[in-house]
Amino acid sequence: MARKRKSRGRSKGSKGRQETVPCSRCKRMVPRDKAKKVTRWVSYVDPYTRRLLEQAGAIIPKRKVVEYYCISCAIHYGLVKIRSRDERRLKEKMA
Ligand SMILES: [Zn+2]
Repeated sequence: MARKRKSRGRSKGSKGRQETVPCSRCKRMVPRDKAKKVTRWVSYVDPYTRRLLEQAGAIIPKRKVVEYYCISCAIHYGLVKIRSRDERRLKEKMA
């Protein structure tokens, strides 16, 4: 069967239905293996104050933020790029 991507745009292989996660931006429900996962460390303090405090030797706590993006939002925010036919055949890169 002709298909656009080797992985069909997902990382589930022959597994069945996956649980869905809401997109962090538009709240669309996306299968977990299709959604693009982004993990960031976010500080409680604003960047300018944080730099000053760190220069003074303070240790600022950070928290981990895990976000899932649907494909539309991932492309809009540049997490994934639209790739040519030849490039798509290469292994899908997780965002
Ligand atoms: Zn979205």
